[in-house]
Amino acid sequence: MTGWVEEKLHSGVRMRLKAERILYDSRTDLQRIVLFENPQFGRVMTLDDVVQTTERDEFIYHEMLTHVPILAHGGVRKVLIIGGGDGGMLEEALKHRTVERVTMVEIDRGVVDLSREYLPSICGEAFDDPRTDLVIADGVEYVGTCDRQFDLIIVDSTDPVGPAEVLFSDRFYRRCKACLTPGGILVTQNGVPFLQGPEIAGTLRLLRPIFADATCYLASVPTYMGGPMAFGWASDNAALRDTPQDMLEQRFAEARIDTRYYTPGVHRGAFALPGYVAELIG
Ligand code: SAM
Repeated sequence: MTGWVEEKLHSGVRMRLKAERILYDSRTDLQRIVLFENPQFGRVMTLDDVVQTTERDEFIYHEMLTHVPILAHGGVRKVLIIGGGDGGMLEEALKHRTVERVTMVEIDRGVVDLSREYLPSICGEAFDDPRTDLVIADGVEYVGTCDRQFDLIIVDSTDPVGPAEVLFSDRFYRRCKACLTPGGILVTQNGVPFLQGPEIAGTLRLLRPIFADATCYLASVPTYMGGPMAFGWASDNAALRDTPQDMLEQRFAEARIDTRYYTPGVHRGAFALPGYVAELIG
């Protein structure tokens, strides 16, 4: 079957991607999962009709939500990923040999199983890495009962509708803070400000009373339509968002990681916010 898959994330703007081959289209008990092949983006996964990741541009999103906080911090050993079912974030974080353990809390096992089957170019062998600790649970429940601490928490969730809505709440963010080691960093997927401005604005409004420093940084991911995507950033050490270029260069060289988007210069530039975003987040 071929045709067009239409993204229905935004009320007034729709994006259609040609589906040359539908690989999978069904529902788990939580969401509809569609996997299909597109001539420009390779294999694409949608959840409840929203593009989640594509083979062609996933590297941008996964590199920027892992290497920016890991190289800014300089001592990340334990990582918590909330969501991330496609395994791309996990695979990218594990590239750091200094990372000892990555706990990934994904609510829908179906996303993991299908990503392992249909998106091996994204997750690679990450799920089989001995440092991987996969937990199938609701992220808000996990942090609500977790007595462990992490140097970095990455919220790689769907948008704040359906199962992910709880991951944009004060309760969740306060529990994330409790699960961070001193000097730890929280980063979040926070949508495209040009079309979803209230998302990043709302997150930062909640984070500011909890963390000494909360802002966002940007990167453009082609299939997240509408311009650059915002990544929420929160820590108790404002210097972490301004790690000097030479220190980033040194850490990046020591990490010996091949990237196609991340560089220390891109890292620092990502925090330079255009006026409309700066105004949005106050
Ligand atoms: N890159 C995508 C984006 O920017 O929207 C996110 C990709 S990843 C597939 C999103 C994952 O979040 C999905 O696998 C979904 O099942 C998971 N998720 C949604 N709500 C969750 C929750 N409350 N706890 C844990 N995982 C959740």
